Amino acid sequence: MTQATQPKTKSAATFRALKCKECGEEYELKAMHVCEYCFGPLEVVYDYDALRQTVTRETIQAGPNSIWRYRSFLPVETNQPIDVGTGMTPLVQAKRLARRLGLNKLYIKNDAVNMPTLSFKDRVVSVALTRAKELGFSTVSCASTGNLANSTAAIAAHAGLDCCVFIPADLEAGKVMGTLIYGPTVMAVQGNYDQVNRLCSEVANTHGWGFVNINLRPYYSEGSKTLGYEVAEQLGWQLPDHVVAPLASGSLFTKIYKGFREFVDVGLVADKHVRFSGAQADGCSPIAQAYREGRDFVTPVKPSTIAKSLAIGNPADGVYAIDIARKTNGNIESVTDAEIIEGIKLLAETEGIFTETAGGTTVAVLQKLVEAGKIDPDETTVVYITGNGLKTQEAMQGYIGEPFTIEPKLDSFERALERSHTLERLEWQQVLV
Ligand SMILES: *Cc1c(COP(=O)(O)O)cnc(C)c1O
Ligand SMILES: [Zn+2]
Repeated sequence: MTQATQPKTKSAATFRALKCKECGEEYELKAMHVCEYCFGPLEVVYDYDALRQTVTRETIQAGPNSIWRYRSFLPVETNQPIDVGTGMTPLVQAKRLARRLGLNKLYIKNDAVNMPTLSFKDRVVSVALTRAKELGFSTVSCASTGNLANSTAAIAAHAGLDCCVFIPADLEAGKVMGTLIYGPTVMAVQGNYDQVNRLCSEVANTHGWGFVNINLRPYYSEGSKTLGYEVAEQLGWQLPDHVVAPLASGSLFTKIYKGFREFVDVGLVADKHVRFSGAQADGCSPIAQAYREGRDFVTPVKPSTIAKSLAIGNPADGVYAIDIARKTNGNIESVTDAEIIEGIKLLAETEGIFTETAGGTTVAVLQKLVEAGKIDPDETTVVYITGNGLKTQEAMQGYIGEPFTIEPKLDSFERALERSHTLERLEWQQVLV
């Protein structure tokens, strides 16, 4: 690793320190992520007075059509960040899904089409690799449940950084292919994510690489705030009443919250009480279990679920996610693998969005919360869809029917069409009984 001198394109930076979330100790803006006194996680702090004086809705709208329109709120010095078109994904009003569930104001934040690798992880990696370059790293890495490896490999390729990523050996084919294609070194570790992560902490200490979610984690995690900013801007500079988002480490959830609070603090949106609800899979639900049992500590679990992108058994930000759900009068729920598959199908059939297992988890939890009366039909509710279904095709094998194979002849088509109508009638009868 070579430590770079000051970047040439340095601009007036508004982030000023790393600060321990537990004891408040402050540190220089280096590549580090835990407090040397209490081992608490470090977080980036900003000069909000400066932001209040310089940032307006107009300055944001004059920026690029990507997460970098919010650059003043992100921990980078350069005014030439790595911009691969990440962010500004559609916020769609989900009228048909809303009607099905009995809601009136439901929106989908669709990061299944985020650029360049079709998950929200492109946000955090765009920020982390921009910062990695500023800090002089030439090799970047990550411990991944799949999507993070895709993003790190793709954006490193674009930025000309060397890349070595670590994944659990049992990932979906689409996630492995979607990493290998960019030409990084890929280590498929025979173990679960938590074991991958432990190994990576050791490698980070011995090799001096920039691990986006380990030694660069304070910078990386700030990228998720853009999921909050964009929703506020796309709702016409207003906050929603309720958000539902998936939880793996819990980082994304806490940073949507931080993004909303910052927009209120600097006067970009009016203050509002936003409820935060989190989604996990039963097969890996350490945060939901702690929430249900009223605990403020998270007991690690060994994951076993089709929602592999959410399969973190020892979630770093679990306690902070619980705190936010409690103080905002939200919820944290979990659902079975069968419900996740139904959630994926429901979103596809009502809104034309094919999400991966993490999105199926979120939709299924949304449905569960509605059925339990925990979402008011008139609340403006935003559901975060964080990844693309084409990457987790295995999960849907055997659950989506098959095409009718026909001869290239009209009568063959007519017979198939008749069969399809019969099948539809049978399905309806099953629904009715
Ligand atoms: C990583 C990931 C998440 C959760 O991220 P955390 O910040 O670790 O909670 C959610 N959805 C998808 C698709 C992911 O890849
Ligand atoms: Zn501390």
